[in-house]
Amino acid sequence: MGEFLKRLCPSMCVDSVSVVDVKELQRLGIRAVLIDLDNTLVPWKGIVLSPEVKDWVKDVRAKGLKLGIVSNTQNMKRLHSIASELDIPYVRRGLKPRRVGFRTALELLGEDASHAAVLGDQIFTDVWGGNRLGAFTILVSPLHPREFFGTKISRFFEHMILNGLRARGMLGVDPGHSPAKAEQTTASDSQKESEQ
Ligand SMILES: [Mg+2]
Repeated sequence: MGEFLKRLCPSMCVDSVSVVDVKELQRLGIRAVLIDLDNTLVPWKGIVLSPEVKDWVKDVRAKGLKLGIVSNTQNMKRLHSIASELDIPYVRRGLKPRRVGFRTALELLGEDASHAAVLGDQIFTDVWGGNRLGAFTILVSPLHPREFFGTKISRFFEHMILNGLRARGMLGVDPGHSPAKAEQTTASDSQKESEQ
């Protein structure tokens, strides 16, 4: 059970994107942030970005971190529109929790998983996928309660997982973030991490 929960455990939990401390991410060696779209940057099916999100994106960019959007949405027009407004590259059909979308985004950004954070509102797509990748994972509270029917069902299981993690004291910033958490880790990645 502990090992199962570990795979679903975010490295950090926050209430909203705008409170993610960019300097803290940099201190942890993060150089790129892969962001989810629905209920993370905008409400589900939404197209309007809040001033807080826009300001945070500006701040991230000003401090030198790279950004990419990885979304499972089928609505390419909306994804393109929001990514264009923020001037952030994006990956179509992220297929989270598979790693392929994250890896494509990292290739676009010229970074590797050991220097990446995955930021999103769902444990079974964003956190699980990010942990499989070996990235630092940040779980954000959903922007709005309105969401896809399937997501509402998975929220029930998310609550169980979060309760289990909380009961074991596993929630909180993970200062020992290591690519060793990835399912496939290369020796060179481990070397790089140990040198930090
Ligand atoms: Mg989402």
